[in-house]
Amino acid sequence: MKEFFKIIKRFVPPYKANLALNIFFNILAAFLTLFSFAVIIPILEMLFGIKEAHYAFMPVGSASLKDVAINNFYYYTQLMIQDWGASGALAALSALLVVMTALKTGTTFLSSYFIIPMRSGIVRDIRNYMYDKILQLPISFFTEAHKGDVMARMTGDVAEIENSIMSSLDMFFKNPIMIIVCLTMMIIISWQLTIFVFILLPLAGLVMGRIGKRLKRQSLEGQNQWGLLMSNIEETLSGLRIIKAFNAEEKVRYRFHRENQTFYRISNRIARRQSLAHPMSEFLGTLTIAIVLWFGGSLILTGVSSINAASFIYYMVIFYSIINPAKELSKAVYAIQKGLASMERVDRILGAKNPITDPSSPVNVTSLKGEIDYKDVSFSYNNNIQVLKNVSLHVPAGATVAIVGQSGSGKSTLADLLPRFYDISEGNITIDGINIKDLRVKDLRSFMGNVNQEAILFNDSFYNNITFGVNEATMEQVVEAAKIANAHEFIMASENGYDTNIGDRGCRLSGGQRQRLSIARAILKNPPILILDEATSALDSENEKVVQTALDRLMKGRTTIVIAHRLSTIKNADMICVMHEGHIVEAGTHDELLGKNGYYKRLVDMQKF
Ligand code: ADP
Ligand code: MG
Repeated sequence: MKEFFKIIKRFVPPYKANLALNIFFNILAAFLTLFSFAVIIPILEMLFGIKEAHYAFMPVGSASLKDVAINNFYYYTQLMIQDWGASGALAALSALLVVMTALKTGTTFLSSYFIIPMRSGIVRDIRNYMYDKILQLPISFFTEAHKGDVMARMTGDVAEIENSIMSSLDMFFKNPIMIIVCLTMMIIISWQLTIFVFILLPLAGLVMGRIGKRLKRQSLEGQNQWGLLMSNIEETLSGLRIIKAFNAEEKVRYRFHRENQTFYRISNRIARRQSLAHPMSEFLGTLTIAIVLWFGGSLILTGVSSINAASFIYYMVIFYSIINPAKELSKAVYAIQKGLASMERVDRILGAKNPITDPSSPVNVTSLKGEIDYKDVSFSYNNNIQVLKNVSLHVPAGATVAIVGQSGSGKSTLADLLPRFYDISEGNITIDGINIKDLRVKDLRSFMGNVNQEAILFNDSFYNNITFGVNEATMEQVVEAAKIANAHEFIMASENGYDTNIGDRGCRLSGGQRQRLSIARAILKNPPILILDEATSALDSENEKVVQTALDRLMKGRTTIVIAHRLSTIKNADMICVMHEGHIVEAGTHDELLGKNGYYKRLVDMQKF
């Protein structure tokens, strides 16, 4: 329960006004409940002819307000009986009961009306927080977390929180008020009986709590399994082409059905345990009522108690109206356990630490020339295998430095360190003499353009994909960038020109077209530093040529780090560095390196046949 109140403290504050209105109407509803049922006392007394005293009108102030109210209520009832007869008075009192109940239910609705925006609002907030967090978290976070599982947390777990915690929320502000108000009235009517109730209710609560305990752990298991299922679906969707090509449908089908079966088993266990709540509370509720009925009845029969039969029935009616809220509360305790499990999963994302942070006093720069220096940089992804070892690299402003080497030698890693996708453990990297950790991450990245092997495009128009990295761009600028990137022609050839939607991740385009679009995007951003990571590796030689001319135009006048698989594309670089197992083992121009007859020569020979 402590966790539940923590959640309330965390998410409720923006909705204080709603909550206040809700509580106000809840209190009103509780009192209306008392008074609407209070009407039945005179009805019962008249029916059974218990009271035969005569009442005289009491002016306000002649006695305490309560006595005046009760006395005058009886007085008017008496008048009614005299004027309309007993059955007429009964009809009038019944009508009063109906009116009071209408008021009460209306008030109950109003209390829900004001709490609902808080319920849905908190769920909206959680979803927004998660999305924002996902945008903030470093790339390294998502190499460890499954995409599908992150999605499961954003959808399934948030929905679970909504269904369990949030739907229990209004109960937590309604039912305790109802219970307190009713219990107070019960004490006023008969404290002996109420002490008895006070002993019984917590006992029943204890029994309920024991069953609820294991529910949270089981729910956590269930949600984790759900995450696994989602990862499975996500992988299948993105790998459909390969699954079909390798006739692996049966294999993935079997895997999915197995995971789904596990989920089915866990769900059954959870649902069965949770459905214990209802019969259990029903039984315990009735048991308590039966005991109170017996105890209270005996008190009256033996004449020990001061209350009469009518008050006792009123007492039982009020007691009955707290049994339901109490039952709901105990069910809510179960639901909350389920929701807390989901909250834990959501919090693992919300609470994830982002190691890549802005410096406390960042250096303000508006422009950079782009002189890059790696000094003795060492790096490892998971603190055991050193991927880069004491790498030093100097790139003069405006120069093009190529990095070549075997796959897995650490080229991409070296390039990813510059925009701080990962932070280095040793050494430092500077741009124009400024340590990159002294710049705001946002500023740092604004000076860089990226073109990777796999063009990352979004399901949007050509125009929006090209302008993705800039805030404002005129149509002329976009067309200009597209022309430089050799993309203008195929864009104009599509049905709606720049407004044509490119489909999911640009699946309606060829690899070369996708790459030229991402080049146009980089051209429009116009950064002083450019990182090209195997930008043409995925293309055939025909496409490669078109893309390469676009790249050459893009590189003009910028500091460029180009990672290339095909050595023919980097022959003209100012400097070529050869990486081998995390070291730069050779550096120089194409001709110098050929002359060394070392690693580079071997790479070149391998590509010549
Ligand atoms: P290259 O680009 O030269 O082919 P990379 O820089 O991608 O090589 O990878 C260098 C080494 O780092 C490889 O051994 C690879 O297994 C490892 N590596 C790459 N990315 C990660 C990652 N996200 N987590 C752990 N290890 C990684
Ligand atoms: Mg690579």
